[in-house]
Amino acid sequence: MKKSLTSLTLALSLIIPISAFAKNNVVVVATGGTIAGAGASSTNSATYTAAKVPVDDLLNAVPQIQNLANVSGVQALQIASESITDKELIQIARKINELVKKPDVNGVVITHGTDTLEETAFFLNLVVHTDKPIVVVGSMRPPSALSADGPLNLYSAVALAASNDAKGKGVFVLMNDSIFAARDVSKTINIHTNAFQSQWGALGTLVEGKTYWFRNSVKRHNNNSEFNIENIKGDALPLVQIVYGSDNMLPDSYLALQKAGVKAIVNAGTGNGSVPNYIVPTLNQLQQQGIQVVRSSRVPQGFVLRNAEQPDDKYGWVVAHDLNPQKARILAALALTKTKDAKEIQRIFWEY
Ligand code: GLU
Repeated sequence: MKKSLTSLTLALSLIIPISAFAKNNVVVVATGGTIAGAGASSTNSATYTAAKVPVDDLLNAVPQIQNLANVSGVQALQIASESITDKELIQIARKINELVKKPDVNGVVITHGTDTLEETAFFLNLVVHTDKPIVVVGSMRPPSALSADGPLNLYSAVALAASNDAKGKGVFVLMNDSIFAARDVSKTINIHTNAFQSQWGALGTLVEGKTYWFRNSVKRHNNNSEFNIENIKGDALPLVQIVYGSDNMLPDSYLALQKAGVKAIVNAGTGNGSVPNYIVPTLNQLQQQGIQVVRSSRVPQGFVLRNAEQPDDKYGWVVAHDLNPQKARILAALALTKTKDAKEIQRIFWEY
């Protein structure tokens, strides 16, 4: 009996490679946020300090992740994500790039504050060349709170990063059991655990450590991107800022940004990216001085149509398509590392 079992094991190992049984290696890169936050008491689900708990404590709090993968941790930053600048964005991307280039790393999870999580995820989607899963995860309640959502989010994020079926699908945001594409996910609720949504829906869902897929993103990302963190020198991107549209606007905000040296202004316009008639001359004046004008919208769903609300071809403006203003800021900054031509920037906005 023993002999036949041994020969069965031997026969199986000839058919199924050892790697099929081996766990993948996942690195958790911690950057701060609520998922690493601490409150005064367990009932403080919304009043707490972000970015307090170190990565080893985050991992030790969810020992079940070691059943999914060989998980190790790196503390890259300890910051509330609203304080992230292009410097930290580049720093995070360089760290992730370094990790995914290692043959013994199969996937990466980034723990992150939820406020600007969508920007970091989109940036990584555009500049890190890999087909290995990269998952950005956060939480809405700190670990010290009753029903903290961080531990399960982290468990699911590790499961996703360790999944071979997650390869090549772009950077993910994992929140509240949903798998989102980095490019179109956004924080849409600022107090509940179902804080993230995409107007195009989730790519899939993750239940009890298992992935269920429903769609793919058709936009360029990662290995198929023309942007690469390895080509970004220094620790700053071309300066792009956002102006929020409303009624009763002043040209002064735009002029102040011009003075500050912006290379592009993303206009978070009303409706379909509308611009008040009394602001158009200011934007055209800036455009003629070489500042790109990108029309986005303060409306969270839909997409800005070129040459509809404004004659973009005539003015030499760009439309952000379905990218929200904060995503448009990231893409415009990257586009400006390559070109100053509005038509070329528009091509980039159609493709990513
Ligand atoms: N504002 C903090 C941050 O973005 C906490 C919010 C959160 O992580 O949910 O890091």
